[in-house]
Amino acid sequence: MSNSHLPEHIIRPEILALSAYHVPPAAGMIKLDAMENPYSLSPELRDEIAQLTANAPINRYPDASAAALKEKLRQTLAISDDIDILLGNGSDEIIQIIAMAVAKPGAVIIGVEPSFVMFRMIATFANIQYVGIPLTQDFSLNLDVMLAAIVKHKPAVIFLAYPNNPTGNLFDRAEILSIIQATSGIVIIDEAYQAFADASFINELDQFPNLLLMRTLSKSGLAGLRLGFLLGRSEWLIQLEKMRLPYNIGIMTQIIAEKVLHHTSVLSKQADAIKSERTKMSTFLATIDNIKVYPSKANFILFRIHAAAQIFQALKQHKILIKNLDGTHPLLENCLRVTIGTPDENSQFCSTLQTILSKTV
Ligand code: PMP
Repeated sequence: MSNSHLPEHIIRPEILALSAYHVPPAAGMIKLDAMENPYSLSPELRDEIAQLTANAPINRYPDASAAALKEKLRQTLAISDDIDILLGNGSDEIIQIIAMAVAKPGAVIIGVEPSFVMFRMIATFANIQYVGIPLTQDFSLNLDVMLAAIVKHKPAVIFLAYPNNPTGNLFDRAEILSIIQATSGIVIIDEAYQAFADASFINELDQFPNLLLMRTLSKSGLAGLRLGFLLGRSEWLIQLEKMRLPYNIGIMTQIIAEKVLHHTSVLSKQADAIKSERTKMSTFLATIDNIKVYPSKANFILFRIHAAAQIFQALKQHKILIKNLDGTHPLLENCLRVTIGTPDENSQFCSTLQTILSKTV
């Protein structure tokens, strides 16, 4: 390779400086790291899906507008005719579409920190300045700092995850509403964990012209399908739709998601089971000395523990994979995040943690 053909001469410096999004190997592990739903669908529903997919015309491109799936979503969510739907290959792709659409020179995206890392990464991909406003010590919004940043940066977009990942809490509704009203840009409320939260901004969509709501089927049970969606007024969605790649939602995703949306009670029963396990896990963790458990409205729990990195490694040696957040942000020092699994997986996590702690004291 001649000197002029080196990647460092061609690739943008901010991409050279990035580390790729890391997905740790998980074969043979109890997988409590990625906020997946641990339950599968019933054998009957899987048989029905098998029939449908066996007969799918996979030699043809899928329906480019995914009309049947969108219609089913519209019914399921009971949204008004003024609200449109944009589908993405996971909500990650929707974040990317939004970032690309606003990437004018000088454009700014605001988020909070710590939050979902892809907001910042995708802003970087799109060559947009990302301003991350630190949360308070208890992971609430720093409202005054947010409002000042809105005045200073005039952001094109503000991303707020509700509940937030990795902290698990819901931000104050009135504070979010004041942010929506203060900005002349758009506010994306990312409701990836809505199935576990009993809270949403869906009823506010009609009220605020600059509010858009993003959801995903990943956390409620269909992570393997990759289906995210954005809800908002058509004046925004007509523009964003132009950026969607043709056929971004594959035929299997369209068929399976539509089928499962006819059986949403299956997913909501699973979400109920996850919520009740969340209560048990929180209660258990709170009984352990030196652990601080943060309240969660999502399908995971954030906790702080002395020597978190060692505890994480020890759990891994016992074939339990959770997420180590120590060192990722000053507010997350010694923090670990565990996804709620099946009752059996959760009790294995709890007993293994107890064993590890009894050996380290
Ligand atoms: N938003 C938040 C807040 C998340 O935590 C995640 C996944 N970790 C996503 C979006 C991405 O979800 P999807 O699988 O739909 O791309």
